[in-house]
Amino acid sequence: MQDVIRKVEEKVKAILSGEPTGHDWYHINHVRLMALRIAEKEGGDKEIIELAALAHEVGDRKLHGSEEEGKAVTKQVLKEAGASEEVMEKVIDIINRISFKGAEVKVENPTLEGRIVQDADRLYALGAIGIARTFAYGGAKGRLMYDPNVPSELHTSKDAYYKSASPTLNHFYEKLLLLKDRMNTDTAKEIAAGRHAFMEEFLKRFYAEWEIKD
Ligand code: ADP
Repeated sequence: MQDVIRKVEEKVKAILSGEPTGHDWYHINHVRLMALRIAEKEGGDKEIIELAALAHEVGDRKLHGSEEEGKAVTKQVLKEAGASEEVMEKVIDIINRISFKGAEVKVENPTLEGRIVQDADRLYALGAIGIARTFAYGGAKGRLMYDPNVPSELHTSKDAYYKSASPTLNHFYEKLLLLKDRMNTDTAKEIAAGRHAFMEEFLKRFYAEWEIKD
């Protein structure tokens, strides 16, 4: 399995190293290390966790145009690295459930390994890195950072969430501030609390400066 992990790592590094919207190799490696840190406390199959963390973005719909095309890429990367059918099935199932799909959209995540990788991915969306990444994403997509005339929306379907092109600040209300209460493990809940508080502080300062009060 170590050989499969190493080969997937090489492949993912080559495909994602310069990705400009916060889904680059450093994001992948961070999710991998954070997932393993959470697993130290929470348990789970570390090899499956590491492999799912490494492969979780390589077939993302944002990079490939559609979910179906993305899934085929993930499968190909795992297969070429020599993963068994059983391992591929587990890893692909984790990856299919990992993404946020809208504030009001619920996705079941029944395995401990899946819950851990999802927590690690979501922690990267929070705190100082989360803020930086969100504005990097908005910039790469040519969005305004803030428009007080465009209200935030709690999306009720994944299509509506995927189609949204709202200003970057709205993303805090549409996703980022909701994540703290949706962490799966106690270990991630603890880390998320500090990162959430920092984002709230950031927003407070942002509005004070925007209104020329600070
Ligand atoms: P997931 O990792 O759950 O699939 P996404 O890939 O949709 O979530 O989002 C990953 C990150 O990309 C977010 O945490 C955020 O930083 C950024 N992002 C996604 N959508 C937006 C958006 N509409 N505006 C600003 N940033 C976004």
